[in-house]
Amino acid sequence: MRAVIIDKPGEIRIGTVPDPTPGPDELIVKVGACGICGTDLHISEGEFPPTPYPIVPGHEFAGEIVAVGKNVPKGNFSVGTRIAADPSLFCGHCIFCRTGHGNLCLEWNAIGDTVDGAFAEYVSVPVANAYLIPDHVSFREAALIEPVSCAVHGIHRLEPKLGDSMLIVGAGTMGLLLLQLALRGGASRVAVMDLNTQRLTLAEKLGAYKTATNLDELLSVEPLGFDCVIDATGVAPAIETALRGVKRGGKFMVFGVAHKEARVAISPFSIYNDEITIVGSMAVLNSYQQAVDLVSGGAINTKAMLTEAFPLEEFSQALLNVRQGKGLKTQILPNG
Ligand SMILES: [Zn+2]
Ligand SMILES: [Zn+2]
Repeated sequence: MRAVIIDKPGEIRIGTVPDPTPGPDELIVKVGACGICGTDLHISEGEFPPTPYPIVPGHEFAGEIVAVGKNVPKGNFSVGTRIAADPSLFCGHCIFCRTGHGNLCLEWNAIGDTVDGAFAEYVSVPVANAYLIPDHVSFREAALIEPVSCAVHGIHRLEPKLGDSMLIVGAGTMGLLLLQLALRGGASRVAVMDLNTQRLTLAEKLGAYKTATNLDELLSVEPLGFDCVIDATGVAPAIETALRGVKRGGKFMVFGVAHKEARVAISPFSIYNDEITIVGSMAVLNSYQQAVDLVSGGAINTKAMLTEAFPLEEFSQALLNVRQGKGLKTQILPNG
């Protein structure tokens, strides 16, 4: 089959690899659509430490089952069934898995991050990771479920209270998904900050009550700051700025993926004196089914989120678009 192969950091090609065959508990999925995310940029550049090379990337995907392993129970999952997949592969027996923190697994793996993924005609998926998608949800929409499930986990971690004011810093795919979930989750008002004014216009369309390219403009309408502030940029100076936007007694969530060596200056006195809570949110944990339901139920404006789609052969061009910040969620359609 045809696949995107990253031989080593910086060396990407479209090539041929053997067709996958299903292990006893696996499904083979003909990929309908697979989204490109920031992690793929990091993998292509050798900046995602757990990745072994060569690898076929692609972890935000949906498609149709074409083969079924011998232990897969008859019924829900058969040839022709449309599914989306949680890419997480937790070991199940480390201390973190056993205490309900599979996303912090000591042997954390994920389809498309550490084992071959879905920028290919076919991908193999453990049946435990497969979720049925209704007919009215297209493969392109279903490939958004994975990023939505990351955002759902973020909201689980943040635990906003009904009526909270919220600020989201970064209006990329994740920031705009968090915006939509926050409004669903009971925030009274959500402001969005980004340097890209086009994205701010979209944020307003999606329900942001106030947008700006700088914090001071937002603090002019919320002089006490926001109950919850989410960083969805992973950029150190943006995080330092965002922290200034937290109200006394409020919460700050680090959601964006910063560089491992990045550092920010914080005031321990403010954390103490203003009783600020800082939380992190990493990937997906018990949040995939909710994301299936949210996308299926129309809670996410998928039309606004999905921009260009490319054939497999144009992966490098698609990756470049993402790197340049063009559009929002760019996807690959490996089977045309
Ligand atoms: Zn992703
Ligand atoms: Zn584990």
